Amino acid sequence: MTKGIDLEDDKLHEECGVFGIYSHKENVALNTYWGLYALQHRGQESAGIAVSDGNNMDIKKGMGLVADVFKDGVGELSGHIAVGHVRYSTTGASLSYNVQPLKVYYDGGNLALVHNGNLTNAVELRNVLAKEGAVFQTTVDSEAVLTLIARSREKTLGGRVAEAANKIKGAFAFLIMNDSQLVAVRDPYGFRPLCLGRMEDGWVVASETCALDLVGAKLVRDVLPGEMLIIDSDTEEPKSVMYCEAQPKQTAHCIFEFVYFARPDSIMDGQSIYQARINMGRALARETKHIHADVVISVPDSGTPAAIGYGLEAGIPFLEGLTKNKYIGRTFIQPTQKQRLNAVKIKLNVNKPLVEGKSVVMVDDSIVRGTTSGKIVQLLKDAGAKEVHVCISSPPVTDPCYYGIDTSVRKELIASTKTVEEIRDYIKADSLHYISMEGMKQALTELQGSGICCACFNADYPDNAEDTVRQGTKFLFDKVHC
Ligand code: SF4
Repeated sequence: MTKGIDLEDDKLHEECGVFGIYSHKENVALNTYWGLYALQHRGQESAGIAVSDGNNMDIKKGMGLVADVFKDGVGELSGHIAVGHVRYSTTGASLSYNVQPLKVYYDGGNLALVHNGNLTNAVELRNVLAKEGAVFQTTVDSEAVLTLIARSREKTLGGRVAEAANKIKGAFAFLIMNDSQLVAVRDPYGFRPLCLGRMEDGWVVASETCALDLVGAKLVRDVLPGEMLIIDSDTEEPKSVMYCEAQPKQTAHCIFEFVYFARPDSIMDGQSIYQARINMGRALARETKHIHADVVISVPDSGTPAAIGYGLEAGIPFLEGLTKNKYIGRTFIQPTQKQRLNAVKIKLNVNKPLVEGKSVVMVDDSIVRGTTSGKIVQLLKDAGAKEVHVCISSPPVTDPCYYGIDTSVRKELIASTKTVEEIRDYIKADSLHYISMEGMKQALTELQGSGICCACFNADYPDNAEDTVRQGTKFLFDKVHC
């Protein structure tokens, strides 16, 4: 058996999804489960929920999908405050002791935390804390934040969280709870998403609005970059605190959320993800007017909205030329040498009559390592496609991400070592086109004027993350982010 399928290996991976809920009346455990269910695309390796009834905090977590971890239900969890987490991680770090929520007991009672993002000064922070006598039970960077909160001399949970948040650098959407309060914090640049929803009898905070939809919460707004929300029984509305002592002039929302990570039915920082992808496809079509194709197809499912947009703009029919097998697990039996199976075939099959003898535009959202595009082009050619023009709705990925995305080291990114023409030759396409940086940014019609992070395409790290990471002293443990 082998793990993973090439198709997923050639994508960037979102690292986590977070969900928090506070109810004035109801047991929130089941809604937390559903919230995580909606966020499953943001992490499939582990899941967990912590719930407090005001006195006791119970936690259930484990390796696997939400449905696997909670296959016996959430019956043993009960209370009115909860945080939940889904996680993806690099293989070496995929260990049960790293599964979130992280929970400790501090002088204010029980304390639990979930995190989406990556702390760029985690090495430094952890070493300082370790020298001061702190002990760590996991290798996730988030544990340093839990330690900072627990050790703070501030009187309130909000005060402690604000103090900790001002000591950390990088990307974070944190949800922290004790037995009486739920606190949500978003980093000053707004790299990772976090939104606030209202329920009949309480509040929800989540990585994406699709989680609000599933539990029947109404989107109120996004948590602002540099904002902390405190939710408890004392106030009707969440208390908002702009905690950041050095708020940057510009935001840096991750553009890859709009290109690929987020679910298409989510709305993020005011922008419909689906509409952004349609717009990217339209821009790509405008930039490749010289291609005269008979049909537009997508690499399903993530490339589909951009392919639809391309077809609409170019006046070329969009057809489902590739069909995805949706029932494949995370492992499969390796084909024998004799079978010489194109592994991508396990996941994708060509709808031959739609492409045979045709000039095809194939739209995908990204090429990261370049391990699958060539195999898909080959499938199309084998099915009789006359020409295959590959159009990508993001620019070439040339640089690593330090903000919570599992990017390869730079040299594994195909565009960091090959030109566009060399990549075209490598994947044996008749032509290869990437959307321009400007075309991609313009597609975010609701975010014009906001700062956007595009560092994996141009190494322009908004907070000089590369320097911070390089300067970090040697870590005492394997580093894991989430
Ligand atoms: S470097 Fe790329 S993946 Fe990372 S936050 Fe910026 S845009 Fe997103």
